[in-house]
Amino acid sequence: MTADTPASDASDRAERRGTTSRYDHDRSDLEALLTGLPAYRTNQLWQGLYSDLADPADITTLPVTLRSELADKLPAALHLDHRSVGDTGQTVKWLWRLADGSLIETVLMHYEDRSTVCVSSQAGCAMACGFCATGQMGFDRHLSTGEMVEQVVRAQREAGERRVSNVVFMGMGEPLANYDHTWAAVERIHGALGLSARHLTISTVGLIPGILRLAEEGLPVNLAVSLHAANDRLRDHLVPVNRRWPLAALAEACSHHAATTGRRLSFEWALMHDVNDTLRDAAELADYVGPLAAHVNLIPLNPTPDWPTRGSSPLRVREFAGELGNRGINATLRRTRGVDIDAACGQLRAERTSVDLGTPRREAPPRLPD
Ligand code: SAH
Repeated sequence: MTADTPASDASDRAERRGTTSRYDHDRSDLEALLTGLPAYRTNQLWQGLYSDLADPADITTLPVTLRSELADKLPAALHLDHRSVGDTGQTVKWLWRLADGSLIETVLMHYEDRSTVCVSSQAGCAMACGFCATGQMGFDRHLSTGEMVEQVVRAQREAGERRVSNVVFMGMGEPLANYDHTWAAVERIHGALGLSARHLTISTVGLIPGILRLAEEGLPVNLAVSLHAANDRLRDHLVPVNRRWPLAALAEACSHHAATTGRRLSFEWALMHDVNDTLRDAAELADYVGPLAAHVNLIPLNPTPDWPTRGSSPLRVREFAGELGNRGINATLRRTRGVDIDAACGQLRAERTSVDLGTPRREAPPRLPD
């Protein structure tokens, strides 16, 4: 391939779109990259990337010269900055450095019956939930589709025989604020990596336009909503986006999503001492969730640098869960994973650790979608 072949057009196009990962290319991009070669080469490349999870240089079905050309043209987006292992090997967290120096985190969690990867959708987050370490960082940028897919690929490589069965978009960022890239990643993870839609979960602070769009997609994925409060006064404070899309409208959108997709709806509730963990809070939550027939995931608040409130005591957690049960609400107490390596819910906060990365970029947060 030379500089003026259609192959370089393909990577130029990819670059113009701002893509940086080999997993940003769809099949037609790869076909264009291999113009002049038999069609089976595209299949071999696709299979190498998505079935064998191989680097182009290691796709041995391809001729050696082609492999080294592809290694140049199809770079990886994720460069390892730091890897930590917690929970006696059951939790792995990666800090990845991206081509532009942004840092993001990915977490792999092994359970008895499944292995789940928690994927970041943005570097930083603009939603400004004060108790969340990513919210405290502010927004850096959206991730591309490939940057999300590549996180799953890297986790799957690590998981090996244990195989990644579930993907949750619960890492850094707000996936529905980066809707197009996130949805394309969902489709690729489903279609090319072969995970079933019912094992994919998108978590949101409650961006209603995004929830309504999700309801129209052909592929029904699970929806999780980070609720944390069931009255607008408290939720306005904990999850600022509630001021734009308050609880009543959120319930309507959730109900529409559940009815249209048939997928399970769940609410996340981080239990904060004396803030949202009283029996009265449980009653309010039950009233909100009951008509939606949703599931509640409870998790004691994990500590984060800039938020003074602590997580609820085990006794409070039990009482809260008991009250929900008495009121007929299905609730699960989430086992906290990765606290020992700052990989637990709400603790993802990528810090620049290397001196040569320059000063952190801080851009104005994007406007919320209408
Ligand atoms: N922005 C999306 C995706 C991130 S998911 C969303 O908010 O849903 C991360 C989950 O961890 C959310 O449910 C979030 O509310 C929760 N979380 C944030 N900070 C937390 C903390 N300190 N302790 C426990 N959970 C937290």
